[in-house]
Amino acid sequence: MLAERTTRYPLVLVPGLLGFIRLLGYPYWYGIESKLRSLGFQVYPVRVSPLHASEVRGEQLLERIQALLLETGADKVNLIGHSQGALTARYAAAKRPEWIASVTSVSGPNHGSELADYCQRQAPVGTWRERLFAWAMRSTARWIGWLESGAIGPTLPLDARACGESLSTAGVALFNHRYPQGLPEVWGGEGAEEVAGVRYYSWSGTLQPGLTNRGGNLFDGPNLACRLFAQTFTREIGQCDGMVGRFSSHLGKVIGDQYPLDHFDSINQTFGLVGKGADPVGLFIEHGRRLAEAGL
Ligand code: CA
Repeated sequence: MLAERTTRYPLVLVPGLLGFIRLLGYPYWYGIESKLRSLGFQVYPVRVSPLHASEVRGEQLLERIQALLLETGADKVNLIGHSQGALTARYAAAKRPEWIASVTSVSGPNHGSELADYCQRQAPVGTWRERLFAWAMRSTARWIGWLESGAIGPTLPLDARACGESLSTAGVALFNHRYPQGLPEVWGGEGAEEVAGVRYYSWSGTLQPGLTNRGGNLFDGPNLACRLFAQTFTREIGQCDGMVGRFSSHLGKVIGDQYPLDHFDSINQTFGLVGKGADPVGLFIEHGRRLAEAGL
């Protein structure tokens, strides 16, 4: 029965850097939110600062979760975070594990992003390059705030430097020291599947020539961007999705780390244009079933 295969707790979708719910009606979780809902899942994409530290975004997420628990009458929620949304979700679960049934990281930089490290090297703190980069990021984030049509609410704070520090390898190492729940103990390993009553899962993709640069991605600019960004990687050379490395994404139970997905494909962007053989929406449906079977 369909009803038995949906989750007990609502699914809360947490976006990454420069994330949103809908921009002038266009969804961040392209075709994912609608598909899950059509299958009977309770799905709530949420809005957090598009440009800020994971802890600040995490506090905003906790406020939203508290409101959702009241609105829905649910005891807990399942958090699914894309990119920095994974760190945001991890923070919320570390602070209020009693509210969270599970945390799922989709292409999350759980050990930092080598692209963020590259940006920091190219535009060190205090230089004109950093000021220019921060201005560009803030301007983009402000536009996102103005065009957001999926939620109304107060203007959220922006901090480009805090955001950059939150995504670098050194910054995430500090974050991990404070919030280690679900992290693998060895590089490339898996983490604990359950900590403080919260289940932890992750999946991610890598750029795979002949697959990820074919199909719909032949016409998708962000795929080209990911291929350029991938050239900044030194530790996980040839093993990244353009923004996050394969092993860096590991958290809790690793469902898969080599799907043919670039960093944007993992949320079916843009307009559902993905590489050959990729089915990012299918991964979300499969995971919804997985959570349901686990009684979550
Ligand atoms: Ca794409």
